[in-house]
Amino acid sequence: MRRPGRRTVTITKAQAVIVLQALADAEAYRRRLAAAWCDACATTPAAACDSHLDDLDQADAYRALAADLGREGSDDLERP
Ligand SMILES: [Zn+2]
Repeated sequence: MRRPGRRTVTITKAQAVIVLQALADAEAYRRRLAAAWCDACATTPAAACDSHLDDLDQADAYRALAADLGREGSDDLERP
């Protein structure tokens, strides 16, 4: 059942391959950013500042979306 305010978007198999690659690239980029600690990271108990924690959260979101897309198209989607 569709939730109110949520639209379904259909993309082609070729577009899905590009989106999955873009998500993988974006996740790698965000994880590289998060690995570059800053002065603010050094002063927090979690050893990561809000900005770098946001990078990790965004990387996790990219990975989750890629997993969802991969599952949806697993029958007919070729992995990049
Ligand atoms: Zn930081």
